[in-house]
Amino acid sequence: MNVVIHWFRRDLRISDNTALAEAARLGNRVVPVFILEDSLRTGPDVGAGRLAFLLQSAESLRKNLAELGCPLIIRSGRSEDIIPRLCGETGARAVFANKRYEPYAQARDRRLGETLFRAGVEFKLYKDAVVWEEAEILTQTGKPYTVFTPYSKAWKLRPIPPPRPKFKPVPAGPAPALPSEVLPVDPAVFGHPCRQTLPPAGERAALDLLRQFMAGPVLDYSAQRNFPAIAGTSQLSPHLRAGTIGIRTILREWQSARATATAAQTASSEVFLNELIWREFYAQVLSNFPHVTKGAFRPEYDRLQWSQNQEHFQAWCAGRTGYPIVDAAMRCLNATGTLHNRLRMIVAMFLTKDLLLNWQWGERYFMQQLVDGDMAANNGGWQWSAGTGTDAAPYFRIFNPVTQGEKFDPEGRFVRQWVPELTAFPAETIQQPWEDPLYLAKSKYPVRMVQHDVQRDLCLAMFQAVKNPPHP
Ligand SMILES: Cc1cc2nc3c(=O)[nH]c(=O)nc-3n(C[C@H](O)[C@H](O)[C@H](O)COP(=O)(O)OP(=O)(O)OC[C@H]3O[C@@H](n4cnc5c(N)ncnc54)[C@H](O)[C@@H]3O)c2cc1C
Repeated sequence: MNVVIHWFRRDLRISDNTALAEAARLGNRVVPVFILEDSLRTGPDVGAGRLAFLLQSAESLRKNLAELGCPLIIRSGRSEDIIPRLCGETGARAVFANKRYEPYAQARDRRLGETLFRAGVEFKLYKDAVVWEEAEILTQTGKPYTVFTPYSKAWKLRPIPPPRPKFKPVPAGPAPALPSEVLPVDPAVFGHPCRQTLPPAGERAALDLLRQFMAGPVLDYSAQRNFPAIAGTSQLSPHLRAGTIGIRTILREWQSARATATAAQTASSEVFLNELIWREFYAQVLSNFPHVTKGAFRPEYDRLQWSQNQEHFQAWCAGRTGYPIVDAAMRCLNATGTLHNRLRMIVAMFLTKDLLLNWQWGERYFMQQLVDGDMAANNGGWQWSAGTGTDAAPYFRIFNPVTQGEKFDPEGRFVRQWVPELTAFPAETIQQPWEDPLYLAKSKYPVRMVQHDVQRDLCLAMFQAVKNPPHP
């Protein structure tokens, strides 16, 4: 019987896992491996919440595999050293893994593939995290799409694949005894204490969330998804990030939920599919245009003269800008590591268009805070909001934080939840407390640090200077 390794990365599950199913398909004895990479605990963008969620997901995977009689081998260090060594220790002739799309991960996989090849070991990578990857959906001229709507139309013309079969290890004699480390579930061990309240991790928790969402909210998604005080979205993003749920499983449940839906519900749930396609759109942008990780998708926007005001940046991070919806959002992000999509857009627009600070500062801060922090979606979301990206909001589309708050948090429920200084304010003034006499008299809430109308003009001038530079 052949021995092969399945290397778990961002696919911490035993169901609907392409490489794992393939590893087992031919009757191989599969040695499951998880490596806590050094970079996961030492890199500049380490997020304590995301690391904690990952550790908890790995622990849940370990238990699920143990139930199948298949012990997870855990190591920490550099995968480029550990994987070849494990092949030697187990006699594995192939390493299976699901593909990653971040430029650094792709470079690492290329190097590892060469090392393994020299040792006579196959390194087999499978598409798994997305339905369609970098070069599979192209324009008629064979180029990657840079605009979402035509991309999504092309995406929808293709069939949706079914989930992969659940992993079943082949019955075999006793597994070779390999030493395995015990993972902490608390990232404080690595100097990253997690102060955020996290959602439950693991495959079971992901499936529960999915079923709950598909049993109702998905059919009203289009109407509810923009209101942060309502649980109208799936909240699956941390699971998609850690790979505790497979994309094909989500799509199958989505199809089943629509089977008995009314026409209006079907239309509403179609918007949810669009969001999943946004995720694939940004994954292919990252693969096809890796320069986005270093600067603007449109290079002319790298010349924007952003402000360098650190005090403004610190106030934005801490949720002390004086704009209630922005501050409530940032305090929620800091406390929970999660943030509603509408609020991500509002705070990203505020950082770039009101404070005139570089979107890359916000991109990094988000990566440090978000449990679902994902290079492709985060970069895409920031460049969209800043107006520098592929399918970006045009630079002159600038959210007004007051009207956004009034529209999407009309009673101020979300603001009151996160900004206790404003609990006494009525709905009419909670999004612009400076209009209320209470503001000056009683509240300890910060004075707004900039005036939106003034900043809007400055922002337009900043972009104009790049679009129409003065003649020398
Ligand atoms: C500035 C900014 C930064 C962002 N950073 C991230 C990030 O680091 N990680 C991340 O997963 N999403 C990111 N998003 C996208 C989006 O905000 C989150 O995916 C969404 O809020 C997650 O909540 P949910 O799972 O309830 O989403 P739902 O509304 O239930 O959507 C289902 C899934 O679709 C995907 N999705 C939804 N909206 C988008 C989108 N606009 N772009 C890409 N994928 C999407 C997510 O995987 C999500 O879980 C960002 C958006 C912005 C504007």
